[in-house]
Amino acid sequence: MQATPFIMECFPKTLDEFRTLFHSEEISLQFLFSKRWPNGFECSYCNWENKDQLPSKTMTCSHCGHPTSITTDTIMHGTKKPLSQWLMSIWWLTATEGGHSAKDLQRFLKLSSYQTAWTWLQKLRMAMAVADNKPCRETVELSSENIFFGGVPPAKATILAAAEIILPAGITGRIKMDVIGNLTQETVNTFLENNLLSGSSLIVPNYEAYLDNNRKNFITITSSSIYRTRDLLKSFEIWLNKVHRGGVANKHLQLYLDEFCFRRNTEMLPDKESIFNLLLAGVISRKSFSYKSIISKPNKE
Ligand SMILES: [Zn+2]
Repeated sequence: MQATPFIMECFPKTLDEFRTLFHSEEISLQFLFSKRWPNGFECSYCNWENKDQLPSKTMTCSHCGHPTSITTDTIMHGTKKPLSQWLMSIWWLTATEGGHSAKDLQRFLKLSSYQTAWTWLQKLRMAMAVADNKPCRETVELSSENIFFGGVPPAKATILAAAEIILPAGITGRIKMDVIGNLTQETVNTFLENNLLSGSSLIVPNYEAYLDNNRKNFITITSSSIYRTRDLLKSFEIWLNKVHRGGVANKHLQLYLDEFCFRRNTEMLPDKESIFNLLLAGVISRKSFSYKSIISKPNKE
């Protein structure tokens, strides 16, 4: 017997609709199974395909005997919480505007542990970074600013930002932002390598860190009118201090940048369902994650 694919006929627009649709752990499992293995189960160890495998939380490969679970190698790896809670978190993050603190998630899911809520949000931010992985391309403005956040005295971080300029309208397209140690030619080149499509044209301030004569893969044009990325960095600073109220440590700042970029970039998608599916793809992707980097001391948000 072949597994029947789960088909979502109507994307839930409200929390009540969501709860009605994903009313049981079994339904959540079927949904996640069909999203993770749309063409039938495939062993992550030997790649053996078994299209007859029915949705199950744990499976043993009939070819190599390797055990797998629905959450193996995803950001949900090792979770003891219901799958429906993960789906509800993804839905909530993508259906609502602005961003949320770990306390908000703790209240929303009625979790007893702040630490769990904080770790889940950090993992979901990692999934956002995985999902929102298209580089900026063609004409791209670049600049950096110091931003200040947190308590008294505030922490400081240098952020490098890129924003596509979509011509001829001149509107801002995709954005990318990274924490950098210092603004140097080396950090700029690393940022370009990670975030921009080779061959793009760069619009940059007239400052030596942006002007590397040995850079071959980009055309660099200086401009005195750099405002897109500066506005973005200012918006990020306001968002960070408003939503997270100073509870963010410098070592975790990149994840908050990833969420900010994900939210901005997905504004271009046609509907909430597309954003939900994109984040879900990041959640169930087999990209390996460094858990140690996030499961350290949470900050109070
Ligand atoms: Zn196998």
